[in-house]
Amino acid sequence: MSTTIDKDSMRRVVIVGAGPAGVRAAETLVAAGIVPVVIDEAPRAGGQIYRQPPADAGFARSKRTLYGMEAGKADAVHSTMAGLIAKIDYRPDTLVWGCGAAQLDTFHAGRQRAVPYSHLLIATGATDRVLPFPGWTLPGVYTLGAAQIALKSQGCAIGRRVVFAGTGPLLYLVAYQYAKAGAQVEAVLDTNPFSRQIAATPRLLRQPSTFAKGLYYVGWLAARGVRIERGVTLVRATGDKAVQGMTYRDGGQELTIPCDAVGFGYGLRSETQLADLAGCRFRFDALNRAWLPERDSAGRSSVPGVYLAGDGAGIAGADAAELAGRRAALAMLEDLGHRAGNADVQGQAAKLDRQLANIAQFRIGLEKAFAPPSDCTSNWPDDMTVCRCEEIDAGTLRRCIRAGEASEINRLKALTRVGMGRCQGRMCGAAAAELLSAETGKPIAEAGRLRGQAPIKPVPLSIAMMDEVSQADHLAAIPEHARDD
Ligand SMILES: Cc1cc2nc3c(=O)[nH]c(=O)nc-3n(C[C@H](O)[C@H](O)[C@H](O)COP(=O)(O)OP(=O)(O)OC[C@H]3O[C@@H](n4cnc5c(N)ncnc54)[C@H](O)[C@@H]3O)c2cc1C
Repeated sequence: MSTTIDKDSMRRVVIVGAGPAGVRAAETLVAAGIVPVVIDEAPRAGGQIYRQPPADAGFARSKRTLYGMEAGKADAVHSTMAGLIAKIDYRPDTLVWGCGAAQLDTFHAGRQRAVPYSHLLIATGATDRVLPFPGWTLPGVYTLGAAQIALKSQGCAIGRRVVFAGTGPLLYLVAYQYAKAGAQVEAVLDTNPFSRQIAATPRLLRQPSTFAKGLYYVGWLAARGVRIERGVTLVRATGDKAVQGMTYRDGGQELTIPCDAVGFGYGLRSETQLADLAGCRFRFDALNRAWLPERDSAGRSSVPGVYLAGDGAGIAGADAAELAGRRAALAMLEDLGHRAGNADVQGQAAKLDRQLANIAQFRIGLEKAFAPPSDCTSNWPDDMTVCRCEEIDAGTLRRCIRAGEASEINRLKALTRVGMGRCQGRMCGAAAAELLSAETGKPIAEAGRLRGQAPIKPVPLSIAMMDEVSQADHLAAIPEHARDD
């Protein structure tokens, strides 16, 4: 690709996230002669789906074992990144905890460092959508994502006899991965009825191979006698000092499955805090049941110079993340002054747009098949913890709302401290919004959006005592090949 990019703007292109979206964006930029800074809090590239075990892991699991049918794609992303390392300014193990005007605040190896940018791609991915149930804070209860991270990253299981509960494609996938790894999967409890999955089939067929993989996981589990219950309500995790069972309701009947671990989740939620701090405009997305940063089809946000790609901009899966990363990089190139009218670039962009539009149709089917329960809060007793960082229970939130003191999520936060702790609402925000919506009778969109605050993830208190990093230090952190002066 030819380019007319000036050197000054070249050195200030920053990508946050080295998952599928971030890696493909970096690849596209490097091909155009740019040396982006790529920052990721993880020690190794790959993001969530292609997460790599630590370099010094005390276990050996092949890519085929770790990533199953996605091993080829994992390998492609890892080897692309390995080929890029000498051509980019890669900063692993580095948390971006704040974002101000044209500058990121990062934390690495005990040091704060300001990273300026002229063009920023936010590709920060997602986490589990957590909707609590009584007993969810018992030791032994994990999110589905955490259960999978334990397996992929540490080569261990969350328990010997595990119940997987909630809904979403990850529910069946993680159950399958655990069973394959030798854990006893006691049951898969899906809160959605099978009829929803059947109804969504026409849209799911837009991605036949992904749909087929999903069917395979369910079929594999069923063929091995794993109990699969659908259309159930999660009642409580039971146990004294640790989880000993999972109780659910099926029709009028309450049943308990003994276990020593539970993995649960209700799909994913986008990590949008950095986009928020960067000043991006948000809109409520009914499909994701969440507030998302606005973007055009190419990934441009409402803030000039800030781009969004991958699950952090709306849940669409790993294949879409790769495409969207490439697409946002092409948009960035165009905005940086890449030769206009380049037919090759325009052709690539148009192809990516078509592929993304097809996946979007599939995604609608997936969200409909695995929608989170709309009435989950009716099951929540007053003494159930909603916000575990600040130890706020459902009763405290209800009293505040019923007293008419809060009808919007930020007001609820100010009065009760829900979402004010270490997770900054990343874990409890969805639950608090559901409760607010149920108590006020207003649609979830009207519950409002928790405003992001820096630091978006915990940093040591000592960070506030550190001086701004000097220019010399900043330069010292830029590898030779990435310097342009
Ligand atoms: C726990 C989990 C497990 C999953 N497992 C599967 C699976 O097995 N199969 C499947 O099909 N899909 C899975 N998904 C969904 C899949 O991971 C995503 O669709 C895909 O990875 C999206 O790619 P991405 O590049 O947008 O984001 P990600 O792959 O999530 O990459 C985002 C990257 O950004 C980094 N990051 C985030 N915030 C910051 C910050 N503030 N500072 C620095 N770095 C930051 C993260 O460390 C991460 O490496 C999973 C999702 C989760 C949350």
